[in-house]
Amino acid sequence: MSDNKNYFNEILEFMGKIKDLRSALALLMWDQETYIPKGAHTSRANQITTLESLIHSQLISKEAKNLFDVVEKCKLNCSISEQQHLKLFSEELERAFKIPSKFIKELSIVKSEALDKWKQARSESNYSIFKNIFAKLIEMKIQEAEFIGFKENPYDAFLNLYEPGSSVRMIDPLFNELKIETIQLLKSVKNQHENITYNFLYKYYSADGQSKMSRFIAESIGFNYINGRFDFSVHPITLALDPKDVRLTTKINVKDLRLCLFSTIHETGHGIYEQGIDSSLYRTFAAEAASIGIHESQSLIWENMICKTLEFSEWVLPHLKRFFPDNLKHVSHFDFYKAINKIQPSLIRSQSDELTYNLHIILRYELENALLNNKLSVSDLQEAWNEKMRDYLGLIPESPLYGCLQDIHWAFGDVGYFPSYTLGKLYAATMWKYLRKDLKNIFKDISDGNFISIKEWLADKVHRHGKMLTADDIIRRISGEPLSASDFIDYITKKCDRIIEN
Ligand code: ZN
Repeated sequence: MSDNKNYFNEILEFMGKIKDLRSALALLMWDQETYIPKGAHTSRANQITTLESLIHSQLISKEAKNLFDVVEKCKLNCSISEQQHLKLFSEELERAFKIPSKFIKELSIVKSEALDKWKQARSESNYSIFKNIFAKLIEMKIQEAEFIGFKENPYDAFLNLYEPGSSVRMIDPLFNELKIETIQLLKSVKNQHENITYNFLYKYYSADGQSKMSRFIAESIGFNYINGRFDFSVHPITLALDPKDVRLTTKINVKDLRLCLFSTIHETGHGIYEQGIDSSLYRTFAAEAASIGIHESQSLIWENMICKTLEFSEWVLPHLKRFFPDNLKHVSHFDFYKAINKIQPSLIRSQSDELTYNLHIILRYELENALLNNKLSVSDLQEAWNEKMRDYLGLIPESPLYGCLQDIHWAFGDVGYFPSYTLGKLYAATMWKYLRKDLKNIFKDISDGNFISIKEWLADKVHRHGKMLTADDIIRRISGEPLSASDFIDYITKKCDRIIEN
């Protein structure tokens, strides 16, 4: 065997070790979300911190550095797929080398303080409690962006962590077009949707019924229980230990059928993606989603595009009536379809409908970008938030609980993550357009509860590739063009009209 081949195998083995450690970390986190005894949270937090720093120390170890130094030599005589493995390996190591360990420790202390202050600020509905530590956190994020490196905008450093290859320059025109079209559409749709009845979704739905329903729905769509588990938690989540062990959770609220139904579908979409990654990629850095936005697209295409069609309502309603015969006795599948698609602006992002959700994301994107570029001060954040809410959604929060303190992301130091949610919607709309072109019987299949061809299409175009393709590669292969906002705008405009017609 040549030296290069030996080095390549050593690099594969190194990635395998890191992936094993990350799987162990995912298992600890899954347990933390599901079955951990109440008294064990502090010790679990210590275990997670230790494991995280162990992974980091492996990535910056002498062994890693030696392997990093032979990557260029190794690339000679390598196949295209081997080159992609080497690229992912180098990028991961470069990221780890760039940020000094001392800074990571300091940042982690500030983050945990920020989380405490955020909780306190929420309990007292008072943004000023969070303000000072958040200013410190933003200052450190600007420093972190310098360590990571960027060409034009410090915000790009973070965008790239979640959406490799993206930038403010790419996202700005997409989001601006989407914002203008959405605000326009919302004006015409709001009144038409006002009279849609949806109260039946918020009657008492037993936990036992919801538990049976969600397991049934996940399996029907295509989640594989041999290679995964399905449980319940306060925050619905998907954690993949590897493609053979994918763990989903959903949430039950006995006064809200919609929450459990659609968070189950959402997480199942994520889970099917993870289970569909090709087995040849196991224990490599390519055995992951192409980007967070592509991951979101796989949950959103199921949650919004497939499972909020009239045909899905036609299939699912008789099953829901089996689980909840009294609550849904007089509901037709037209009523159900309208209720789950009702457009109604909300102050809360996580409770928003498919149309107005993007305005919540664009608002956060604009504010984060301004904060990192020193165009907005943390002291003025609450006011800036409320102003944008009024301009985009016509609502003003009475309390910061329903305003700038509503999400945990900033308290965690996650800046640049929000855009992936909307990018996910844009990716999903393009996929939905071409999926419908390719699968001629798709609506008949959905009304029959046959989701195999959809799952196979997504597996072929997206899932199996893992990180061997970028988000841009995936979209260009499907549509022949880079990502645009027009497929989503077209989709949502037609959908809003269709809901009124029925
Ligand atoms: Zn998601």
